[in-house]
Amino acid sequence: MKQADAIVIGSGQGGVPLSVELAKSGKQVVLFERGELGGSCINYGCTPSKSFLAAAHNAGRARLAKNVGVRATAEVDFPFVMNRLRGIRQSFRDEIEKRLSDAGAELIHGEAAFTGERVVAAGDVEVTAPVIVINTGTSATIPKVAGLADTPFLTNKSFFDQTSLPKRFLVLGGGYIGLELGQGMARAGSKVTIFHNADRVLNNEEADVSARLQDALREDGIDLQFNAGVSRVSYSGSVFSVEVEGGKRYEGEQFLVATGRTPNTAALHCERSGIELDQRGFVKIDEQFRTTCKGVYAIADAAGQPAFTHVSWEDYRRMADILKGGSRTRDDRVLGYAVFTEPQVGRAGLTYDQAIKKGVRARKEEIPLSDVARAIEWGQERGFYRMVVDGDTDRIIGATLVGYEAAEIVHVFIALMQAGSTWKALDESVHIHPTYCEGLPTLARMFEPK
Ligand SMILES: Cc1cc2nc3c(=O)[nH]c(=O)nc-3n(C[C@H](O)[C@H](O)[C@H](O)COP(=O)(O)OP(=O)(O)OC[C@H]3O[C@@H](n4cnc5c(N)ncnc54)[C@H](O)[C@@H]3O)c2cc1C
Repeated sequence: MKQADAIVIGSGQGGVPLSVELAKSGKQVVLFERGELGGSCINYGCTPSKSFLAAAHNAGRARLAKNVGVRATAEVDFPFVMNRLRGIRQSFRDEIEKRLSDAGAELIHGEAAFTGERVVAAGDVEVTAPVIVINTGTSATIPKVAGLADTPFLTNKSFFDQTSLPKRFLVLGGGYIGLELGQGMARAGSKVTIFHNADRVLNNEEADVSARLQDALREDGIDLQFNAGVSRVSYSGSVFSVEVEGGKRYEGEQFLVATGRTPNTAALHCERSGIELDQRGFVKIDEQFRTTCKGVYAIADAAGQPAFTHVSWEDYRRMADILKGGSRTRDDRVLGYAVFTEPQVGRAGLTYDQAIKKGVRARKEEIPLSDVARAIEWGQERGFYRMVVDGDTDRIIGATLVGYEAAEIVHVFIALMQAGSTWKALDESVHIHPTYCEGLPTLARMFEPK
């Protein structure tokens, strides 16, 4: 059996920089990876999806330019788009391989499993180390639907292997993955239907976020089917047939399943090292990523952290600090995230309802984008900016933005919240005219005592 200083399982967004940092500091590091280097983000998530959306949203924006007097037809060269994104992800993978090798981390291609306490093996390689970090991520959850398993349905993993544009594209799931890819396919030229098992898309977000998105998705020609439990799926003559409860049937050339994520922990056999999982299979961790086995840690998606690349990457920085004896913890940050539909959704911190549930005496104010000069001038008025503050301290505790480039604009709030600012700091900021961000001091001023 080989002895190392540290083992990292999974080359996700935290595992790679952690391996590099430890190896550069002179530690003997072994990284196990069963698939492509770079994990979901680079191979089946952020990188290919945003490269795909670059084309889809450019086409969508060109068509919507009619609102400002430009009549354009936009045709998406689907094979080119898909080749381009595969090229980008390959270049990112190559870069990771180089970083690992330059740092001197040992990469073992194979599916890792614990064979004993702090002992990990893949194939005939067995390694032990006093420090082991699990960064194995998640995979698409496949729902139990009659007939589904016998069909060549797509998940986020196979979506990016498509080479031709399907005429009709069916999506199961109205969460952010289903919406981003569904809207992308509609803007690329497919006729899209989205089935969702709730009465609105993105039903974990505030209701008016869903409402704005639904208007935009319908404008792109998407058929939204709510409370639509899919009961049976079949595939014949290159066509999927999807039956929803109640008997109505829909057909399409492709069918994407995007109904949530399942942690990649089954293959690890955590029980052999005394590592407990929760009921859903996520690794149980404490405030400092410690599992129930001494010396074994778990970070990012597999540990049930908010499932975003920037969280995984930030988990690496915390993990590195903790391994040096530091005091960072698993959630010592302002959480922000975005949905890259058009309009985009940008979120930071708490919603008003979440704050109230936590017992905060919260206040909220909002402005519609139709009150922001830049939005009117640029013909991008769909959306709103909402800010939540702690009524006792005036501190900003959350924001929800829906609108053009909201994923960028929300960083104003992330930075202010990280600095512990009150709405007054925003009120006193002089924002440039005419920008979308000019609406933010206006929004802050609404908190002034009436
Ligand atoms: C379609 C899609 C779009 C997304 N878009 C965004 C976005 O825009 N912004 C954002 O912040 N997040 C986005 N995400 C989420 C983001 O991809 C993940 O949160 C991020 O990759 C962090 O994952 P991770 O580091 O936990 O693990 P992952 O990146 O999933 O990596 C885990 C790695 O572990 C490997 N592995 C698993 N089990 C084993 C084993 N037993 N042995 C060896 N190796 C193993 C896997 O092969 C994988 O390479 C998106 C996800 C999807 C699916």
